[in-house]
Amino acid sequence: MRRTYEPGKFKVQVKKSKAGLGLFAAEDMPKNICIIEYVGRDISGPEEYTSRSKYLFEISSKKTIDGQARSNTARYINHSCRPNAEPTIYKGRVYIFTSKKIKAGEEICYDYGKAYWKEHIEPMGCRCPKCIEKRERQTVTA
Ligand SMILES: [Zn+2]
Repeated sequence: MRRTYEPGKFKVQVKKSKAGLGLFAAEDMPKNICIIEYVGRDISGPEEYTSRSKYLFEISSKKTIDGQARSNTARYINHSCRPNAEPTIYKGRVYIFTSKKIKAGEEICYDYGKAYWKEHIEPMGCRCPKCIEKRERQTVTA
């Protein structure tokens, strides 16, 4: 299937979620559609290594963007170990696609990747549904 890199055809909403604010589908979305573009300031170069922003997105070995600005609605997408969306890099830009059908009202999440998870999410306790279930099972059997 050919993908079209045209975000904005499906409505999204920023709302409260388990992990602070999150991005939610405001209408049903089919699998494999472009939800939104992850936009940011190009910080390629020395700043890439000194920036303390949590919203860095490495597009390639030569290009990193900082999506911290509130105008980057995609920054509200939380991490999940059982995601329903995935980032795709196309012509030096980042687009978030659905990786399965998403129903209206569902939170949109993608997997931030192992390195980010280990450094920023695991220490706080991952709040994705998969990890919450896992912790609940452990409590029951303990
Ligand atoms: Zn998790």
